[in-house]
Amino acid sequence: MSTASPEQKRLGVQILTPEGVVHNGVAAMVVAPSVGGEVGILPRHVPFIAALQPGRTRVKMLDESEVVLATSEGYIAVEDDRVLIMVEQAELAGDIDRARAELAVSAAQEAIAAAGDDEAALTAAKAALKRAENRLKVVDKAAS
Ligand code: ATP
Repeated sequence: MSTASPEQKRLGVQILTPEGVVHNGVAAMVVAPSVGGEVGILPRHVPFIAALQPGRTRVKMLDESEVVLATSEGYIAVEDDRVLIMVEQAELAGDIDRARAELAVSAAQEAIAAAGDDEAALTAAKAALKRAENRLKVVDKAAS
């Protein structure tokens, strides 16, 4: 029989961007989009670090509700039941402006078409497209 108290079965979760703290609290589980595939972190996970790709990050709260975010490239680090997610951008699903993301998709597609031999412009436009498409995916999934 487990002797763990409920207090021990929780994670401290922080989601940070250069702009500030997007989420900070306790959780039962975190699911994040690592470059190697989705990773699920439960309490007592071994120390872990991975690169993240743009995708959907889910924080499962102790009451079973979920906080869903669109997150961009970055890192996840886990140690001592603390999960730190550091990403370039993170938006709560409910804060995503769908029309803005649609415009960003169009703008990025135009930028890709116009990039020609400019590798830097092409790379930036492709990354912007990925971010905007991810926001649409996250907001649509949250609504369904
Ligand atoms: P866009 O092309 O729409 O500007 P972007 O990926 O280039 O998107 P930035 O302009 O760098 O984004 O983002 C500035 C801030 O706006 C960041 O905090 C980012 O998380 C947020 N943000 C970007 N797009 C959206 C969106 N569609 N809905 C809500 N927040 C957004």
